Amino acid sequence: MTETGLLKVVHGACGHDCPDTCAWIAETRDGTAVRLYGDPDHPFTRGVLCAKVNHYLSRVYHPDRLQYPLRRCGPKGAGQFERISWQSALQLIADRWLSDMRDYGAESILPFSSAGNQGLIQHSSLDQRLFSLLGVSRLERNICGAVAHEGLCATQGSGVGVNPEELVHSRYIVLWGTNTLVTNLHLWPVIQEARNRGARIVVVDPIRTKTAAAADWHLPVRPGTDTVLALAMMHVIIREGRVDRDYVSQHATGFDELAARVEQYSPASVSGLTGLAAGDIERFALEYADAKPSLLRPLIGLEHHRNGAMMFRTLACLPVLTGAWRYRGGGLSRSTGAFQFSMLNMDGLLMPALAQRPTRSLNMRDLGRDLCSTTLSPGIRSLLVYNSNPAVSLPQQTLVRQGLQRDDLFTVVHDLFLTDTAMYADVVLPATSQLEHLDLVPSWGHHYVSLNQPAIEPSGESVANTELFRRLARVLGRTEPYLFESDEELLSTALQTDHPMMQGITLDSLRAHGWLHLKHAEDWRPFADGGFPTRSGKAELWSARLEEQGLDPLPGPGEIQRGGVGQLQLISGKTLHYLNSGYSHQEPHRRREGILQIELHAEDVALRGLQDGMQVLVRSQQGEVTAICCRSERVQPGVAWMPFGGLSDAAGVRRHVNSLTPEEPTDWGGGSGFYDTFVDVLAISD
Ligand code: SF4
Repeated sequence: MTETGLLKVVHGACGHDCPDTCAWIAETRDGTAVRLYGDPDHPFTRGVLCAKVNHYLSRVYHPDRLQYPLRRCGPKGAGQFERISWQSALQLIADRWLSDMRDYGAESILPFSSAGNQGLIQHSSLDQRLFSLLGVSRLERNICGAVAHEGLCATQGSGVGVNPEELVHSRYIVLWGTNTLVTNLHLWPVIQEARNRGARIVVVDPIRTKTAAAADWHLPVRPGTDTVLALAMMHVIIREGRVDRDYVSQHATGFDELAARVEQYSPASVSGLTGLAAGDIERFALEYADAKPSLLRPLIGLEHHRNGAMMFRTLACLPVLTGAWRYRGGGLSRSTGAFQFSMLNMDGLLMPALAQRPTRSLNMRDLGRDLCSTTLSPGIRSLLVYNSNPAVSLPQQTLVRQGLQRDDLFTVVHDLFLTDTAMYADVVLPATSQLEHLDLVPSWGHHYVSLNQPAIEPSGESVANTELFRRLARVLGRTEPYLFESDEELLSTALQTDHPMMQGITLDSLRAHGWLHLKHAEDWRPFADGGFPTRSGKAELWSARLEEQGLDPLPGPGEIQRGGVGQLQLISGKTLHYLNSGYSHQEPHRRREGILQIELHAEDVALRGLQDGMQVLVRSQQGEVTAICCRSERVQPGVAWMPFGGLSDAAGVRRHVNSLTPEEPTDWGGGSGFYDTFVDVLAISD
C-alpha cells in the first residue's frame, strides 16, 4: 500500500453539515491524494458529490490552509499572527485556563462548537469527557435541529420518520420549506423516481427556489404562516370527511379538541394571512388527504422562525389525521440524525457521569450577548472554538464580533483556515481535513452509517479534534486513561450496542464495506400500527405534557411576526458553492458566489426608488450591510432574500446577513428566529 507509485484506494465519507453524507473514494499515490470521487456503489449518494466537494482536494491542499499554531501579535481582528510551536501554544492555553479556573471558576471557560464536522468522534467525544471533568460552561448546541425535533416530539413522541429512500413509494410529496435541489441533492433522484411512478410534487416555500421551480405546484406561503396553512388544511380535511377515523381513534388523543380548534381556520379566513388563494388551500388539503400515500418533507427552513417548534408540532398532526403513516412511503420524513444516534452507545462515548456537579449551560444563540454581558457571573474569560465559525453563523453578528474584540477575552480557534472567528483569536491551531482523520459518520438524511478512513497524513502540524483534546488533557495535568483513548477505541465504544438495527455493524465490517445500511425490513413503517413513543402511547393531537408546561396543548399558529423596520421580511438561504461559511476562502467558490446580494420583488424595488444592480444599504434593528440590489421573480412582494455564508458585503467588508438577524428565542427548543428579521432597503447616494 505504501510502495512508491502504487495507487491506494481509501473509502470515506463527507463530514459536512449536510443530510446527504456522501460516501466517497480517495485515490492516493505516494502519500498524496490525487483523486476524490463519489462511491458509485452507494445506493443513496450514487457516486455524485456536490459542486462544493467536487473540489475538495483543492480545499485539502489549499495554500491558505493553516499548517502550524499561531499566536496573535497585533490587534484583535487585524489578522496579525506569528508562528509558534505546539508546545508553546498548549502551554499558553493551559496557563490561561488554570488561572481562569483558579480566579474566576471553571465556568468562566466556554467551549463553543457546532456541526462544522459531523463525524461522530470529531464532533463530540474526548472533548465532552474533558469538559465534564473540568466543570467548564456547557454549550446548548441547538441553533439547528433541536427546534424541529422538539416540535415533532410534542405530537409523535420522537423525530423518527419515513426512511428517505422510501419516498419512491409516495404518491404526493410535499417539500415544505426545504430547497432539496440545493441542500439535499441526493434526495431529488428518489423524488424523480416517485414522480415517474405518478407522484405529484408540491413545494411550500415563500421563495421560488430551484426546487419550487422544478415542482408540479409551488405554494408561495407568506413567511411564518405555515402553521396557519396546516391548520386550514386540517379544517378542510375534517369538514370534508377525509379523516382516517380508524387510525385516529386507535392511535391518537385529542381529536375532538383539535376539530374544535381548527373550525376557525377556514381557507377563506386565512387566505389574507398566508397569501394563498382560498381555492388553492382547499385543493391542496384535498389532494394531500386523498393521495395514498402522501408524504410531508420539512427539513430546516421552518425551524428558523420564532414559531418554529409549533410549525413541526402542527405539521405532524396531518399524517395522523389522514392515516398516512399506514402506507409505505406515507407519513413525515425529516432528519434521521437523532434516530441514528439513539442506536449508538453515546453514554459510553461521552461519559456524562464524569461531571462532578451541574454546570451552567449557555445557549449558542446568545454568544454575542453573553460575551458582552456585564452581569453574567462568572463572565466568559476564555473561549475555545472548534467545528464552527460563530462570527459568521450566529445571529447578532455585530454583537458577537464586539464580544470577540474584548481585550480580556482569551480565544483559541481550531480550524483549517483563518476564519472570521480565528481573526479575533489569541491562539490559532491547525485542524485536519476529512481526508486526514478517522471517523464514523452517521447521517441525518438516510439510513446508512459510513466509516471515514484517513487517506493521507495530516497536513503540516494539523491535528484532529480528538488529538487536540488529548494534548489539552495532558498539558492540563490530567492522567485519567479515558482522556487518552485512541480514535479506534472511541469508535469501538460507540459501536458497543445491542440495538437490533445495529446488528453486524462493527468497526471491522465497516472497514470491509465502507458503509452499511441499518438493519431493518425494507418495508419499514415506523407508525403504521401506532406505537408513538409519547406519554400516552398515542399521537398527541392534544398534549397534556404541553399543557403542564404552560404551553398551548393544541396545534396552533404560534407567534407570527407581522412586520417591523421597513416591513420587508428577510429570509436567508444556502447557496450551491458555500456551505454556511465553509468554502468562502476558496476560489473558484468565492468568485461564483460573488458579493452579497439582496433579492427583491419588482414592486419593492420600484416602491423604494431602487434599481436592479445598484448598491443599497440593508438595515434592520440589529445592524446594516451594503448589498447589490437584485430584482427577482423568486421573491414575493414584502419578502427579501439574501444568501448566508462568508460573503463580503458590497462595500468589501466581511459583514454578512447575520449582521441583520436577531437572537430571538424560538417558542421552544432553544433555537433562533433568524427568519423573523424585518429590514428596510435604501439607495446609497454618492
Ligand atoms: S456537502 Fe453534502 S452533498 Fe456535498 S459531498 Fe458533502 S454530503 Fe455530499
